Amino acid sequence: KEALLEIKNLHTGFNIEGKTYHAVKDVSFDVFPKEVVCVVGESGCGKSVMSLSIMDLLPKHNGKVDKGQILYKGRDLVPLNTKEMNKIRGKDISMIFQEPMTALNPVLTIGFQMDEVLINHVKIPREEIRKKSISLLQQVGISRAEQIVHEYPHQLSGGMRQRVMIAMAIACQPQLLIADEPTTALDVTVQAQILELIKNIQEEVGMAVLLITHDLGVVAEMADRVVVMYAGQVVEQSDVDRIFYNPQHPYTRSLLNSIPRMDEEVEELNTIKGIVPSLKNMPVVGCRFADRCPEAMPECREITPRLGETEKGHSVRCILYDASRPEMEEEEVQS
Ligand code: SF4
Ligand code: MG
Repeated sequence: KEALLEIKNLHTGFNIEGKTYHAVKDVSFDVFPKEVVCVVGESGCGKSVMSLSIMDLLPKHNGKVDKGQILYKGRDLVPLNTKEMNKIRGKDISMIFQEPMTALNPVLTIGFQMDEVLINHVKIPREEIRKKSISLLQQVGISRAEQIVHEYPHQLSGGMRQRVMIAMAIACQPQLLIADEPTTALDVTVQAQILELIKNIQEEVGMAVLLITHDLGVVAEMADRVVVMYAGQVVEQSDVDRIFYNPQHPYTRSLLNSIPRMDEEVEELNTIKGIVPSLKNMPVVGCRFADRCPEAMPECREITPRLGETEKGHSVRCILYDASRPEMEEEEVQS
């Protein structure tokens, strides 16, 4: 099977006071057609930077992909200019964000904004555009679509606005939808509805979804495959069952332990102690999780683990596993 999206050795750097810091450092993974891949990790682990890198939406003044490839159907998106990227954005790859209010124009009606998307990307006769906008809104579960087109974003609830964003995102039948924390700002019941909508649309339209989340509950609900990120790197990657039933990286295990359990009376969430190292304080040598890892050993600060396959389709970056220990030569070079 051929990958729809292949991210290869992606490095995204930010220029801070004349120095480059990598928020994404050597990230590689694939998304296959019609598959839901969840990228999970705490905030500050590089998940959003990674997704903005794919869409070429990094802050222009200081952020840039400075190494690696982002292959969409075999074509590298990294060297494309804005005009070429505009053709791909929305049409082949769409993106939805955590706060739809920022992506919608507050002074234009929902209908006007829906129509714009169709006019810019889809070849249909002008007189049919409004009808198409309404049917897209209905497709995302908005029953009052004919009224909603005359309303402004602030007149809608957060959940409704996210539905509108999804309608816009699927207007051109993209093959890949990138959703960055699409339900984080919503309350729990609405969250569940929006996730179900994304899942249904994904199956209906047959698109792939790259879903960014910090919430393992969302992962359990949605994912076929999971990419766990920590401090700008992939630390574990596998199918959803193995991530939940055979998690190998101590960070993944800590994340799983911090999910509140219904059958236990926990006063306090068992969250992971400590914080993700900031860009400026990233350890140069050794494991980036060492300061917080319950299983850290002295050598974790001397050996830099690499992402290695422990079994077919399951990769881990932790020296508890032989596959993650660098080759002898590499180790010599480092010392
Ligand atoms: Fe923990 Fe060491 Fe593995 Fe890092 S390499 S996750 S510190 S055991
Ligand atoms: Mg984020």
